[in-house]
Amino acid sequence: MIAIVLVGAGGRMGQAVARTAAGAEGVTLKARIERAGVAAPGDGGAPWGHDLGAVLARGDVVVEFSAPAAVSAVATLCAERGAALVSGTTGLGEPDEAALRAAARQVAVLRAANFSLGVLALRRALAAAMAAVPATWDVEIVERHHRGKQDAPSGTALQLAREAAERRGYPDSALRHGRSGRVGPRPDAEIGIHALRGGGWVGDHAVVMAGAGEWLELRHVAEDRTAFAHGVLASARFVATAAPGFYTLDDVARVAAR
Ligand code: NAD
Repeated sequence: MIAIVLVGAGGRMGQAVARTAAGAEGVTLKARIERAGVAAPGDGGAPWGHDLGAVLARGDVVVEFSAPAAVSAVATLCAERGAALVSGTTGLGEPDEAALRAAARQVAVLRAANFSLGVLALRRALAAAMAAVPATWDVEIVERHHRGKQDAPSGTALQLAREAAERRGYPDSALRHGRSGRVGPRPDAEIGIHALRGGGWVGDHAVVMAGAGEWLELRHVAEDRTAFAHGVLASARFVATAAPGFYTLDDVARVAAR
């Protein structure tokens, strides 16, 4: 039985993971951790607390969907205690990414900007489509998320854009975040990213590829957060037995496909 300690338990993703874990085989929710001041829901579920250090033990798997400011400390504690980590928070800065990589020298750390298997399929479809059309086709990404989302563009849109840029041999500076004013003709070496915010959109990513006289669109829509939660639990099962190292959802899919 894999003991999961959930950080950010009161949030949208935390609640979705807790709900999905409740009906899943082989995992148990050991504890739910929130910021000081966020009250327990009183639902009779797994123990609720504010101090990860007070509950974390060797062999536990921490699942965190919280905030960038929380990630470094969570990663360091996981490394100290010998607990594997599944990290889903997006909008991380370089020091947070470095903390995850440092922890991965001691324990298994899996990080994904998007835990949905449909988005994994979208990334693979994008790679195949880019290989099949001329390199002159323009690539633009449109993402939509709920009005409460903190970071823009989404981590998934950035990942799609970076993978597209890498495929074309464009530098990171080729990512173009929206357009405004007299911007002139679109340069060839550019990947446009456009972030829409409103209502309750859970997550919607469309990659548009435009050529002369034709275009195509690859699109994934997450209708509810169980789309992510199943990938999160598969990742928790993966890191529970993985050697120390830094992993992505591609590693989970590779094992599942065997
Ligand atoms: P949310 O604001 O609903 O929930 C975040 C929760 O974390 C809140 O309850 C907050 O109180 C808590 N929190 C903040 N700091 C904390 C700390 N130091 N310790 C413990 N808890 C803390 O946000 P959300 O929609 O659940 O998203 C959370 C993060 O996950 C965001 O960065 C979001 O972009 C990302 N996300 C990732 C995926 C994915 O598949 N990787 C999917 C959806 C959302």
